[in-house]
Amino acid sequence: MCKKLRVLLLDNNLAGAPLPPATFTEPLSHNIELTRADCMAQIPTHLPNHAPDVILLVLESPDAHGLETLRKIRASAPAVPVVLLTAVDDDALAAQALQAGAQECLIMGPQHGQLNARDLLRALRHAVERKRREDALFAEKDRTQAVLNCIDDAVVCTDAAGNIRFLNLAAEKMSGWPLQEAGGRPISTVLQILDGVSREIVASRVDIEAGRGAPMHRAGDSLLLRRDKIEIPIEYSVAPVHGVAASVAGTVLVFREIGAAREMARAAQKMALEMAHSAQHDYLTGLPNRMLLNDRVDHAIATAPRHLSKVAVLFLDLDGFKHINDSLGHSIGDKLLQSIAQRLLNCVRAADTVSRRGGDEFVVLLSEMEHDEDAAVSATRIMEAIKEVHSVDQHDLYVTASIGVSVYPDDGLNSETLIKNADTAMYYAKENGRQKYQFFKPAMNVRAVVRQSIKESLRPALRRREFALHYQPKIRLLTGEITGAEALIRWTHPVRGTVSPAEFIPLAEDCGLILSIGNWVLREACKQALNWLGAGLPLGTMAVNVSAMELRHENFLEGVLAVLDETGLDPAYLELELTETVLMKNAESTTSILKALRTKGVQIAFDDFGTGYSSLSHLRKFPLDALKIDQSFVHQLSTAPDETTILTAIIDIGRKLKLRVIAEGVETKEDLAFLQAHDCEEAQGYYLSRPLPPEQFAKLLQSGLQRAPLVLHPRLMGGQLAGLRR
Ligand code: C2E
Ligand code: MG
Ligand code: MG
Repeated sequence: MCKKLRVLLLDNNLAGAPLPPATFTEPLSHNIELTRADCMAQIPTHLPNHAPDVILLVLESPDAHGLETLRKIRASAPAVPVVLLTAVDDDALAAQALQAGAQECLIMGPQHGQLNARDLLRALRHAVERKRREDALFAEKDRTQAVLNCIDDAVVCTDAAGNIRFLNLAAEKMSGWPLQEAGGRPISTVLQILDGVSREIVASRVDIEAGRGAPMHRAGDSLLLRRDKIEIPIEYSVAPVHGVAASVAGTVLVFREIGAAREMARAAQKMALEMAHSAQHDYLTGLPNRMLLNDRVDHAIATAPRHLSKVAVLFLDLDGFKHINDSLGHSIGDKLLQSIAQRLLNCVRAADTVSRRGGDEFVVLLSEMEHDEDAAVSATRIMEAIKEVHSVDQHDLYVTASIGVSVYPDDGLNSETLIKNADTAMYYAKENGRQKYQFFKPAMNVRAVVRQSIKESLRPALRRREFALHYQPKIRLLTGEITGAEALIRWTHPVRGTVSPAEFIPLAEDCGLILSIGNWVLREACKQALNWLGAGLPLGTMAVNVSAMELRHENFLEGVLAVLDETGLDPAYLELELTETVLMKNAESTTSILKALRTKGVQIAFDDFGTGYSSLSHLRKFPLDALKIDQSFVHQLSTAPDETTILTAIIDIGRKLKLRVIAEGVETKEDLAFLQAHDCEEAQGYYLSRPLPPEQFAKLLQSGLQRAPLVLHPRLMGGQLAGLRR
């Protein structure tokens, strides 16, 4: 049985049309507990006593006065629904009454017939129920807003058209937009969300995604552009709100600032990814490094039988890169390597791998090859591509490549062997004239073994006294007198016999032994010079060759001065020969070391001049005393007699810079005659004397040149050369 409805009746029927008495008779009295208030003033007193479920206000007409009464009731009893009963059938007035807070507006009158008691009861119950629902909804909405305003995440709601309907406090704070101003505006004009990577505005995408009905979450890499244009890193979610019949009624956008801890976690993750990448890639070119290459080669080998294919490894080393790097500097060298990397990538298929091994060495893996010839075609294509000009900064650079090729399965069954054999083949390509490709042959390994064994036997050579110095004279061309000696190291290997310095010095540099060998040479040469000078022999200077690693060593200067000190040789008798490669390594510090040496009286000679990349531009830079013209220019006198311009130009430049000019590699009397005719000051070469062991050189100093090495050039006839033997 239904609980009785407590009704407070205010019959404000001023016109005197009372509520029909039948209205509240049976069966209504079973269901209603009725209290009457005679006037508005009584309502507040009735409220606490009767706690009505509903107030029934009877008005003849809801005119201004009647509506005022209604408002007063609503104000004094906001929780109690009010049902209006009136005799006037006016839609506009009824609407006003509803707006003023009536829950229901019932019409009764002659045209509408008397109000049936049952209908009245139903209307009253509906009013109570509707009010209860409205209150619940209101409370729910209130609670939701309170919750939303309590959370730290920003929440924005839009309607179906994308206009903002709600912003919680966090959203107001983060965006800089108060709800009052943002409400009703399109979301895209209020909230600018940028993609952190492309910096494209994604607010419109937010609408689109939501419109599609697909909830979306972006974990990071997004930026909120605040009203004051400050960008905040955020993550956000967006989801559609569905109305009736699943139509989209709007969007909810939730976003939050990515906090410092989170940012750090993301940065750490990013760093881990970058570290994983850099562990497998070359920092300069971004190409796979040797570790990743090995993996790829092994993978290609593993899949080759399935595809009935071959795998080739091309080991590539640039010719002359060292000169470019040394003379133009590392930054240009680096850019050239990047340009090479790009050319290599352009030459291969997507399935192939181009990797950098370090320095100027690259390895290309050709997977799924049908014939060995395919590797030859690729090698040729690569060499052609590399030799084209590389424009780096303002320089037009030319460089060539030598390539060694090994093929699976013939030349190796794993990555290590294949790469090692391709490397060996590359050495052969280099030794046989460079800018070539060379397929690996098993016999080549013998050579590699030889190099390794030489390296191993270099170590005990000093201790076993296997080294000796030979001395080659330098001759003043005008007088034929010996101006000095160049100390040249000789190694007698217990098994192999004589090993040329051209062969073992680079190996000694490779393994660092050059430091102790160089020190031995310097001490030995100084002692020898002092010995000859002490014996009254006219030695002139004693020249000692210095390699790059020696000069670069932090104690080089102190080392040289210490040897001079120990041996007691006057520094003025010592000349150091340095090639351009040696000079250009750390040009700045080299200059200061050379200046310090010259201050002590040591002379500096530029060895093998003319073969470097930028010799001329650096001639002025270094403190020099002598210029030794590289043998190749003198050899050209016999091989290309018409191309003497460079040789004569170098002699000229040297003289103008007030340097002693010494021509190396004089092998014939024609060479000598030419140099004499072109006023070259000094010469050195087999024609004059080969490098000699100390005893023989001492004899040469005693007696002068026994052979008649000098020819008289017609221009020099007539007295000046009276002292020279013919
Ligand atoms: P370099 O300093 O340019 O020495 C000249 C080289 O040319 C010597 O070769 C010498 O024997 C050779 N030579 C002299 N006259 C002629 C000639 O008329 N025709 C030809 N074809 N060659 C001639 P060597 O002794 O084999 O030395 C080769 C290079 O090894 C030297 O070139 C120098 O760079 C290096 N070297 C020699 N001894 C030492 C040393 O004690 N320390 C260092 N660091 N390097 C050395
Ligand atoms: Mg030399
Ligand atoms: Mg030389």
